[in-house]
Amino acid sequence: MRRNTKDAELRERAAQVIPGGMYGHMSTAMMPEGYPQYFAQAEGTRITDVDGNVYIDFMCAYGPNLLGYRHPDVMAAVQRQQALSDTVTGPGEPMVQLAEAMVDMVSHADWAMFCKNGGDATTMALMIARARQGKRKVLVAHKAYHGAVPWNTPRPGGVLPEDRAHLIYYDYNDPQALEDAAKQAGDDLAGIFAAPFRHDTFADQELPDAEYARAARAVADQHDALLIVDDVRAGLRIARDCSWETLGVRPDLSAWGKVLGNGQPISALMGNDKAREAAQKIFVTGSFWYSAVPMAAAVETLRIVRETDYLEHLQRIGTMFREGLLEQGRTLGLPIKSTGPATMPMVLFDDDPDFRFGYAFCQAAMERGVYLSPYHNMFINAAMTEDDIRRTLDATGAALEHVKKNRASIEPPAALAKMAALVAEH
Ligand code: PMP
Repeated sequence: MRRNTKDAELRERAAQVIPGGMYGHMSTAMMPEGYPQYFAQAEGTRITDVDGNVYIDFMCAYGPNLLGYRHPDVMAAVQRQQALSDTVTGPGEPMVQLAEAMVDMVSHADWAMFCKNGGDATTMALMIARARQGKRKVLVAHKAYHGAVPWNTPRPGGVLPEDRAHLIYYDYNDPQALEDAAKQAGDDLAGIFAAPFRHDTFADQELPDAEYARAARAVADQHDALLIVDDVRAGLRIARDCSWETLGVRPDLSAWGKVLGNGQPISALMGNDKAREAAQKIFVTGSFWYSAVPMAAAVETLRIVRETDYLEHLQRIGTMFREGLLEQGRTLGLPIKSTGPATMPMVLFDDDPDFRFGYAFCQAAMERGVYLSPYHNMFINAAMTEDDIRRTLDATGAALEHVKKNRASIEPPAALAKMAALVAEH
């Protein structure tokens, strides 16, 4: 039987001293009932909540866990660097080593700048695109997430129309929409943002057509604007390079984060020589941007990326999870879908407009020790084994049976109604 007494106690204390008890993407406010908010431990592919319940974790800290939590080689690099220096008056050798390793790995890039979060990197990309020639307009796909920054955060609180005055939105994967948006920008087009694939929340994922990716490159070139691929979420789960390299399309800038230090706080902006001078013009920095420990962790993570078959393993394990789940859906006659790359699956149900079946499914899997998301794409990590997938499928099979049996009485998720009301207040 799952316990949640400590979690409930922490939530109660948090409600006094943390606005809303919790905020941001790790808030469980939109999760099905019973999802734990607080965790005590993580190892490999398992997370343990504060009440001692253990889960096979398909969220991977929303991406950063690429190789397994507390990967021994990365942890050894962390400890070695910690014994020397971390946050001091200037960077250490790992910064240069990491820039060299990143430039070697990312085909389009001639230089790297490091920061802490994905939103730092995408905002730097925005600034560099504008600083280059003083142009203002930037194209962004509808609903695409590039960070919790005023120019992109998905909730309206505290955001002014002026923060987004020079953004023009287009439909992802639609070359015509892209061209129309560029036409609107005229000779004021500074940059075009594109995610490696469409990974909006609450929606099936969509891989990009090569035609769209090529159109993005062509439109950027016609307008002498910069093409920016936001690889913060998908980086290193599609390629050992920028994700659009698989389509033969090279951006001018790419934003990275999440996986780089296998969980240590570090992100990066990579760019080509066309963008180098503009990158030198902008002033961007942060107290912790040059800390040596996360950089040492990233140098080691990239060594493992280069020298092991981690990516092929992710693809194999992800495919086993996907095929197993789809087979269970077929057997039970439930229209479950798994979209996007197998290494980052989004799992939704057909004919589930208010997400009630997806929520009930995830809740039942969580109660059986598998942590899934009903609205965000999930992530495979390299510590996952075939045995983990078999155990996962035992849980998802039982969860699907639960959905089938209780289909008529499953209610729409209360969490979503609450969230919709909150957003409507603004
Ligand atoms: N871009 C994408 C595609 C992301 O998925 C995210 C984070 N989910 C970000 C940018 C922002 O990254 P961070 O939360 O580290 O600022």
